[in-house]
Amino acid sequence: MKTPVTVLGLGTMGTALARAFLSAGHPTTVWNRTPGRSPELDVLGAVRAVTAAEAVAASPLVVVCLLVDTTVRDTLDGLDLTGKVVVNLTNTTPDQARGLEATTAGAAYLDGGIMAVPAMIGGPHAFILYSGDAQAFEQHQPALAVLARPVYVGADAGLAALYDIALLSAMYGMFGGAQHALALMGSAQVPAAEFTEQLLLPWLTAMLGSVPRMAADLENPPETGSAGSNLAMQAAAYHNLIDTAEAQGVDPMLLRPMGELLQKAVASGHGDEDLAALIRLIA
Ligand code: NDP
Repeated sequence: MKTPVTVLGLGTMGTALARAFLSAGHPTTVWNRTPGRSPELDVLGAVRAVTAAEAVAASPLVVVCLLVDTTVRDTLDGLDLTGKVVVNLTNTTPDQARGLEATTAGAAYLDGGIMAVPAMIGGPHAFILYSGDAQAFEQHQPALAVLARPVYVGADAGLAALYDIALLSAMYGMFGGAQHALALMGSAQVPAAEFTEQLLLPWLTAMLGSVPRMAADLENPPETGSAGSNLAMQAAAYHNLIDTAEAQGVDPMLLRPMGELLQKAVASGHGDEDLAALIRLIA
């Protein structure tokens, strides 16, 4: 028999997780603060627990996907977790993950970072980062794999959150740039979908190709200066990004921090270097 699983939390993500377990044949017990959420899970064979304590008692593997850290703490507070493997897939900071590990006495703790939206769960492109109890991860890897590709990043329970937050930070930076570009083109009534498909995506895809070189430069700083686009040139040109936004009536708030960092890099003598110098400055 496949490992029985409990899912605490039937928001959009918790529901997707429960559906994936059920579809893969795992006996699945679910609990949610508001009863009756996601009735489609009943059709798939989910067992509904009335209390979180009842839900936890039903399975050796307990997957938690609630709103925030305090929600998880309040929900788990006072429950008997002895002998359970608790997998917390709620978004947390590294310190919150370590704190939760310390409070789940008697249980093995894994913290996870879901790198997917609910519709991607159970599909080929989703992955979930895990950190914490290595033995628990080994034992339950086959069950966790039905959700998304499991990626174990280390025994420190806070590591998955750190990786997760790093990837989310990169994503929001990328979205911020794209959103500004769309606002700018919108100020001239350029159709957004066509601009995105024909120019924005190809451009961003080409530029992403320079990220591995940035990472390589960070690990092995080049002995000579920039091979192409030095920071002094970029800082000088960056004024045009701000000026154009303002002239078009678009708030440059998403752009300003990068301009300030470029100026700082040039002022502190890094004008002849490449973008990896910015990473060293903020670190
Ligand atoms: P939802 O807002 O859809 O669901 C929130 C869940 O938390 C519900 O089950 C809700 O119960 C429960 N909840 C909220 N407050 C309390 C409380 N005080 N006590 C008990 N239960 C509570 O969020 P998602 O399902 O989308 O997200 C869940 C987690 O997954 C979050 O940490 C999120 O950051 C993370 N995540 C979400 C992604 C997404 O794209 N959706 C992507 C990656 C991670 P009730 O039904 O009673 O309100």
